Amino acid sequence: MGYCSKCHERWPGTARAHFTGCHKTFRSAGGFDKHRKDFACLDPANIGMEMDEKGSWLTPMPEDVKRRLGCPQNTPPEVEGSAKFKPKSRGGRGTHA
Ligand SMILES: [Zn+2]
Ligand SMILES: [Zn+2]
Repeated sequence: MGYCSKCHERWPGTARAHFTGCHKTFRSAGGFDKHRKDFACLDPANIGMEMDEKGSWLTPMPEDVKRRLGCPQNTPPEVEGSAKFKPKSRGGRGTHA
């Protein structure tokens, strides 16, 4: 459990990163790094981050990743024809020229 004595914010676990400069809590160190620019703080909302229900900033998953995770890959590739295809016998067995 993390705790900031300045803003009295508490957050579960140690994975979260609370910055004591702007007193924002980030879900990951990556998000923390992202909001720091040139030794200053950016507004997480301005860099595409979202706040979760517990008040931690997180980087939302890109839409294409969400879509990929959202649709289960249980559709087997359909192989049609090729496996069932049998070469037709020409009938003329023993047609020696
Ligand atoms: Zn704080
Ligand atoms: Zn900050």
